[in-house]
Amino acid sequence: MKLFLSAISLSLLCVSCANTAHVNDNIAAQETTNTLTTVMPANLPKNIIMVIGDGMGPAYTTAYRYFSDNPKTTVVEETVFDRHLKGLSSTYPAPVSGVVTDSAASATALSTGVKSYNGAIGVDVNKKEIQTVLEWAKLQGKKTGVVVTSQINHATPASYLAHNESRRNYNEIADSYIDNGIKADLYLGGGWKYFIREDRNLVDEFKQSGFHYVDNYQDLKSFPKDKPVLGLFADVGLPWALDDTNKHRLSTMTKAGIHHLIDLQETDDLADNGFFMLIEGSQVDWAAHGNDISDAMAEMDDLAKTIEYLEHFVEHHPDTLVVVTADHSTGGFTIAANGKYEWNAETLRTMKHSVNYIAKQLTTNEINAKITTELFNFELSEEELSLLNDSKNNATIEKTANMYQSKTTPASELALIKSVKKVMDMRSNSGWTTGGHTAIDVPVFSFGQHSELFKGLQDNTDIAKKIFMLLGKDNSKIN
Ligand code: MG
Ligand code: ZN
Repeated sequence: MKLFLSAISLSLLCVSCANTAHVNDNIAAQETTNTLTTVMPANLPKNIIMVIGDGMGPAYTTAYRYFSDNPKTTVVEETVFDRHLKGLSSTYPAPVSGVVTDSAASATALSTGVKSYNGAIGVDVNKKEIQTVLEWAKLQGKKTGVVVTSQINHATPASYLAHNESRRNYNEIADSYIDNGIKADLYLGGGWKYFIREDRNLVDEFKQSGFHYVDNYQDLKSFPKDKPVLGLFADVGLPWALDDTNKHRLSTMTKAGIHHLIDLQETDDLADNGFFMLIEGSQVDWAAHGNDISDAMAEMDDLAKTIEYLEHFVEHHPDTLVVVTADHSTGGFTIAANGKYEWNAETLRTMKHSVNYIAKQLTTNEINAKITTELFNFELSEEELSLLNDSKNNATIEKTANMYQSKTTPASELALIKSVKKVMDMRSNSGWTTGGHTAIDVPVFSFGQHSELFKGLQDNTDIAKKIFMLLGKDNSKIN
């Protein structure tokens, strides 16, 4: 406790020294330490749910407000995010990686309270394994679960479940989910490619360890009450929300997952112990890397519905804490671009297909008013039609800017992906500054028991420290 308290006061003092008179230092230090030095509260929350919107910087939660606005009213309606805003979090990684974090370093900070290098999974800068909040929760007799829309061995969930020097070691990370002891009672997400391999079938190994396995959303309705669950629903990440058979798959999985963790506690007579759960809207980041506003908003919508469900859960289980934040912001997304004072969500709200799906269809079909109206769900202008046609016909082989795009995608499809996004950017007037991450602070939302602890400006490592404390870990033993 002492350690992290002094580190926090120190960083705060540095900020105030640079900007204000010395007299403010004490006030500022006091204000921050108020949230951070709180002694362990008497009534620890029974359940803790950590929610991460990967890449969800403040521009995304703001854009989502305009996106979900009822255009028939003069006010812009409040969102589930707005209701629970508590503060901001800084996200910078260990100095060796500069100030711009990746998902691995940031999730490691959020899961362990320790800053590390970009790429690190649950290890510090010396590659030493650090205990995560999920591991600690498990040791306290809590049930644990992970629900994500990426593959379950992707950087964010892996940083709660594994320890590896590199996020890229996907097979090793998947193997460790068995080899280093099974740490969760519930895993829902994607990842057949890594869990059912030629050299090893981890799904069979999970089954042999007593797990119930499901591979389609229908089976989320019927888990056996006494078995832990592994649910994999895609080869890698789940399909884009807009293309998925269930556009709100994260909220559906979350509902099923929470009910199951409660069933498991009851069967094991551990009903008083509660659970720890990590939920990730993984693909806000993937859309953002591609500077793809319509998919980003659809992923945000799935995440928002998930948090609305959690609100409802906390109403009925007030001994639960929910913390929602992002690991970093992605894409340098701007709500209004090119000096034009305008941002329109209208066409984004009615999208029925992902940008990638639309581009694929346009690659193999003639581009005309009929097909584009079907695919975009609005009428394209002559100008937009010729933009699409030109890009298709003049496509040259180019290296894709989207790291999630297959290298075998034909040039015409790549060119169309780009121009479909351009149509959506022009319609909405969205701006982008990068295909990567940015170092801007991210919003922190929380509700439920002791949610007030997350007020103000904090570092991502503080979030882990507060969660450790609320899981009853002695402060002097916090990393
Ligand atoms: Mg992630
Ligand atoms: Zn990213």
